[in-house]
Parts: sequence; structure tokens; C-alpha cells
Amino acid sequence: MVGLLLPFTGVRNKTLCHIHGPTWFSWVDPDSDKTSDGEPPKMKIPSQGTCHRGGDTEPCRYCEEAGQFETKYDDGREIPLIETWQNHNRGGQNSSVMEELDLRGLCKDYFKITPSDYGNEMIAGDGISKGTVNTWLKEIAQKAEIGYERGLTEHSDFTEMVPDVYAHDMRGTFVMQLIRNNMQRTKLIKYTGHDHVSSLQPYEERVSQETDAREFLDHI
Ligand SMILES: [Zn+2]
Repeated sequence: MVGLLLPFTGVRNKTLCHIHGPTWFSWVDPDSDKTSDGEPPKMKIPSQGTCHRGGDTEPCRYCEEAGQFETKYDDGREIPLIETWQNHNRGGQNSSVMEELDLRGLCKDYFKITPSDYGNEMIAGDGISKGTVNTWLKEIAQKAEIGYERGLTEHSDFTEMVPDVYAHDMRGTFVMQLIRNNMQRTKLIKYTGHDHVSSLQPYEERVSQETDAREFLDHI
């Protein structure tokens, strides 16, 4: 769940630790696809909201202001949950393949998506720590053999060297995926929660290295 939510919702680590099923998803009926707005199911990240980490509504150590969860830049947003995605690592150069990935169904099964539903209210029941997220991600990266560009590093939770990747790297993956698929910059930041389009520049420079002569010919 963690390994899919990070790159396909682009949430920050602290936000992931606070996902609260009964109030963050847009379903109104756990037995149907009905959502509160008639749109595809979404994860609605509140800019401010009650902190439920630890199984209660007391402040957790990530939430300072009166126990309230807050996003970094007051950037509440709604991320539609995918069922398919464009895999740019397949399909040959300058091409991609549409692949199924039912994050929507996984969220519905894993989380308690309405107050009357069954399931986990938060990841692992009552939320996890940022350190746990990064440890799990390193395990995933090890198995998936990703992160070699960043190299390997020592980590106290592992006996061997592990990929030097963090949750925030997956946020970068999310941003670059939207850039590769040509989403307008002003729309894109509504999904990433960036303050200004100028924050996208490092990602755009990375994606620009992927272009080639054939793409130039398509655009001239
Ligand atoms: Zn909290």
C-alpha cells in the first residue's frame, strides 16, 4: 500500500502517515462506487484536520498546532485514485504502455473508507512513523532493484547495504510522471501541492533529458 500510494498520489511522508480512511476518501457507500461528488474516487487531503495518529485525536509528535494535522503549505488537495497508468519504461523509446494498477480497489479494500465500513482507519491501523515509511520503501526498492542511481547506503534497520531512497523521491516520481504525460504546469501543481510552477523546474530538467530527436521531429 505504502509503495503504491507514494508514487501514485505524490503525498509527502508526513501526509502519508496521517491518511485517515473514514474522512479522507470520497466514497459515500462502501458497497458501491458512489462518491460524494459523482466523480472518480479520490483521496482528499485536508489542508487542516484532526490528527488521528496513535488511535486518538491527541496531538502526535508531527502535529504541533493544537493537535491538528496541517499540510506543509496549507495545500489541501484531491488526488483521483488510479486504475491504469502510462508506463514510460515500456513500449520503446518515446512511447509508453497503459498498464492496469487498481489503486482505487486496493484503497477500498484496505481502508475503512466510510464511517460505517470495515478495514484499517489508517495505514497499519493507527498510522505509522516517517521512519517506518522510509524503511519499508528501502525494502521495496531493494526487491524492485530501483535506486541504483542514488547508490546504496547503510541503514540501522538492515544488515546489508540498501538503496539510498526516501519517500520524497517517490514524490519526485509522481511529479515527473505528470510532466511526461504533458499535464499543464498550472494544473499539475494543484495535484502536487507546490506553491508555484517554478518549483517544477528541477523535475522538468530531468524529464527533458529523456527527449530525443524523434520527439523533436514530432514538435516541429
Ligand atoms: Zn498528527
